[in-house]
Amino acid sequence: MRYPFSEIEAKWQQYWEDNKVFKTDLQNPGDKLYSLVMFIYPSGAKLHCGHWYNYGPADTYARYKKLQGKNVFAPMGYDAFGLPAENYAIKTGVHPYDSTMKNIADIRQQLKRIGCMYDWDAELMTCVPEYYRWNQWLFLQLYDKGLAYRKNAPVNWCTSCQTVLANEQVLSDGNCERCGNQVIQKNLTQWFFKITDYAEELLAGLETINWPDKTKLMQRNWIGKSTGAEVNFKVEGSDEVIKVFTTRPDTLYGVTYMTLAPEHPLVDKLSVPESKQAIAEYRESAKKLTEIERTSTTKEKTGVPTGAYAINPVNGERVPIWISDYVLLTYGTGAVMAVPAHDERDFAFAQKFGLEIRKVIVQPGTQAAEALETAYTDAGTMVNSAEFNGMQSEAFKELIIEKLATEGNGQKKIHYRLRDWLISRQRYWGTPIPIVHCPSCGEVPVPLDKLPVKLPYNIEFKPSGESPLASCKEFIETPCPKCGSPARHDPDTMDTFVDSSWYYFR
Ligand SMILES: [Zn+2]
Ligand SMILES: [Zn+2]
Repeated sequence: MRYPFSEIEAKWQQYWEDNKVFKTDLQNPGDKLYSLVMFIYPSGAKLHCGHWYNYGPADTYARYKKLQGKNVFAPMGYDAFGLPAENYAIKTGVHPYDSTMKNIADIRQQLKRIGCMYDWDAELMTCVPEYYRWNQWLFLQLYDKGLAYRKNAPVNWCTSCQTVLANEQVLSDGNCERCGNQVIQKNLTQWFFKITDYAEELLAGLETINWPDKTKLMQRNWIGKSTGAEVNFKVEGSDEVIKVFTTRPDTLYGVTYMTLAPEHPLVDKLSVPESKQAIAEYRESAKKLTEIERTSTTKEKTGVPTGAYAINPVNGERVPIWISDYVLLTYGTGAVMAVPAHDERDFAFAQKFGLEIRKVIVQPGTQAAEALETAYTDAGTMVNSAEFNGMQSEAFKELIIEKLATEGNGQKKIHYRLRDWLISRQRYWGTPIPIVHCPSCGEVPVPLDKLPVKLPYNIEFKPSGESPLASCKEFIETPCPKCGSPARHDPDTMDTFVDSSWYYFR
């Protein structure tokens, strides 16, 4: 006898629905359990097996707990804004709202037929004003505290999606994670969330949560805390000082050159006239590369000398100043002291350009006079370091930081790899940023009682490099909330990860 799936499943699914079997009483939580899965991206038309690979076990767990008597809350939602939905809409020619709503209807139908126990009364969509008004509310709370701010910065720009991307949205080959096309660097004024203020809190939080060690390690590396020193190098023949951050102040006697990011503001000031042409050309070529390509360890090192010299504060030596794209303006101070003997990238660079490689730390079990085949990056005994020869490098590190501080040449410093979160996107399908730009008042936050700032429906949503909202009159033109004179809404929308970073509260 065959088991009549379609008959039995349809019968009981109807019963569950009619009797609201999976409705959760949120007013009387009692012995409660909140079972939350990552919400679906409704960018594709249908669910696939991979979705159920993800949701199946969580649904089983939620049922098991419910049968044990827990008051289980298991909601489902749709993470519906963002590039995939918009790119899909562009491809098919259907408005992003219509295609997303159609996809959601199909997906909901599929989920019901699978028979999972979601509380459908609590269903959530991030692309409707009832949801995204709270993105705007959160934005304004952060803005009020100085934690949402605008600055001009080099950003990743997808040449095909015509929008900026966060570093996390660029693949290791330098291409866009959504469309696979080339990502370049571009200077733009963008909105950021000041997540760097929370680096220590984020690190501390990792100690208290039950996550796999592998995941925690990825998070720690992403925050990238390192302790070291900031060292001041004076520029020869000028009053300028170049600050460098180094985790290895114990190698200061081994500095044989210095490297600035090509975009470093001092480059124009200090480079000699004969090098200006080469520097201009080099900067052009560096612009075509993303940060990920620039800092790749396998990329061949390139650079140009500026013709200027810096003075090493520990021994008064002149060191040539170069520019190279492996140094980023947005990381540390945009300048590095190069110690080829004890840093792999500097070693490769010095070998290529015939710069001195001076050993200042001797590997245990080797001789000071032995030439280095590769950079030696661990601890050892000091050599070629004046009166500190013979000391252990770890002890010397502490000592030299103190010495730099007392002589006014530097200080102890903690550095994080974490950057502020770039949240603005030049796309249509996202949450409008609740800021008005007024010719007389400047940036004016939209008052809380005027939320939501609604995304208009009638729009040319295809990417042009400018935010589509900028050319939508009904949206962009608005009186200034402060003085009433004609002003403009901010034309950008928020990164879709703003939506998903708090939906568990909603
Ligand atoms: Zn793209
Ligand atoms: Zn105004």
